[in-house]
Amino acid sequence: MNASTTRYKVVLLFGPPGSGKGTWGKILNLLPGFYHFSTGEMFRMLDVDSDLGRRIIETMRRGELVPDEITFDLWQQHLHNATLIGRFHPPKDILVLDGFPRTPRQAERLNAVAEVKTILQLDCANRDILIERLHRRAILEARLDDANVAVIRHRFEVYDTAIAMTLKNFSSQLIETIDVAAPPVRILSAIGEALARRLG
Ligand code: ADP
Repeated sequence: MNASTTRYKVVLLFGPPGSGKGTWGKILNLLPGFYHFSTGEMFRMLDVDSDLGRRIIETMRRGELVPDEITFDLWQQHLHNATLIGRFHPPKDILVLDGFPRTPRQAERLNAVAEVKTILQLDCANRDILIERLHRRAILEARLDDANVAVIRHRFEVYDTAIAMTLKNFSSQLIETIDVAAPPVRILSAIGEALARRLG
């Protein structure tokens, strides 16, 4: 199938750093007919010896967003390759996007190629819980952007500003709010119920 004409069926995972987008995305990836894709992971896999890789890692280390055109081009290339090697089967498969889109421009580009079925907004009122999780992840996954509290707080600010603007590109009816301070089984059941309702 030609990637440029495919309309992807999409579930968006939105949420501040530490809210568990990656964890829940990987769990959904285990379901038949689901394909999880994280732009953060895509960037972390880039070769740090290349010019592009180095520039992007530097941007991430500061907690800033990677420029839109680079992000969208890499995103499209990745999905195209995943389709070619038979990992992802659009438009049959549900594409679970984690960390994308994060800007109005990215949302516009996504809307041109995708049908968004629902937005799972993972969040919790007490951000200190998320900071604690990030500290644990910094040690377990050696993530430099998770080790420094000033960078984490900056990423929360970047997220809050970016997400408010990005959400304007989608109907508010699509949003399902998931409280990530709840125990994991409750989060799992909230996500499962939301998807059963939205995907039928
Ligand atoms: P988190 O949400 O915990 O910050 P991610 O792995 O989603 O973790 O993202 C890590 C970093 O990767 C972000 O801080 C940003 O620098 C970059 N990034 C990820 N997705 C995008 C995107 N869609 N647009 C621009 N930058 C992105």
